[in-house]
Amino acid sequence: MMLSAFTQTEGRAEPLKVVATLSAYADIAKTIGGAEVEVSFIAAPIFDPHFIEPRPTDILRLKRADLFIHGGLDLEAWRGPLVNAVARADIRPGGAAELDLSKRIKVLDVPTGMLTRADGDIHIFGNPHYWLDPRNGLIIAEDVANKLQELKPDKKSQFASNYEAFKKEITQKFVEWRSLMKPYQGAKLVAYHNGWSYFMNFIGLKTEVFLEPKPGIPPTPRHLEDVTKYIEGNHVKAIIQFSFNPTDAARSISKKTGVKSLVLSQGVGDVDEVGSYIEIFDYNVRQLEAAMRND
Ligand SMILES: [Zn+2]
Repeated sequence: MMLSAFTQTEGRAEPLKVVATLSAYADIAKTIGGAEVEVSFIAAPIFDPHFIEPRPTDILRLKRADLFIHGGLDLEAWRGPLVNAVARADIRPGGAAELDLSKRIKVLDVPTGMLTRADGDIHIFGNPHYWLDPRNGLIIAEDVANKLQELKPDKKSQFASNYEAFKKEITQKFVEWRSLMKPYQGAKLVAYHNGWSYFMNFIGLKTEVFLEPKPGIPPTPRHLEDVTKYIEGNHVKAIIQFSFNPTDAARSISKKTGVKSLVLSQGVGDVDEVGSYIEIFDYNVRQLEAAMRND
């Protein structure tokens, strides 16, 4: 391709092609990149991001991408094989066209002993669901802004001002979300999957017991008996789960104990009401507030 002196100094005129693993990352990238990016994502939010099978079209999109944004750690267990199939050095870890969003995140639930996937665990580097703390959303947005500035230096001020606008909006929301959750500080919830540690940290509630005996391992009748006892003994008001988790276990415990069963959002578009990263929290906080209030 011929580059004129003008395009070399001014950067590329066409939008950067950004491919993100998750819809939540894609939404933040769109917010920061605006008209300077063309964003798509690989994992449809209605499916479990741990267990996506990338399609041949994902490989093609990544071959042409200017930037690959992913979560690092081991949420996207399919990422390694996908990157291998794309065969581009610059989207591998540390490459100029890749952005690993976990780099500046304080990772929770990091295992203390040796763990391998052979144990059935799918959180071997710690809990990878960190975008569900909106404060981490701000770190993600800043990382994205820095990376986009690197790729399109002539649009630096635009990315910086989009970041500032996002920061202003979400930090105002922090106050609203926290005040709605204030009466319920320290309350215990049960979750299907250990995917909520970051969100709980933010809102001041707790998930310490899960319907899955280990992340990725389906519930057993024996384990569900223990969970039922825990719910009864700890005044647990709600079992929370992702839209793609099976609901039968929660429903049967709910019938027995009266605990509410809630589907909360983890991605943009996994429930109808959620059309942006910020709306994930709007939705979840509203759902929880209603469940905790109506005793
Ligand atoms: Zn997980």
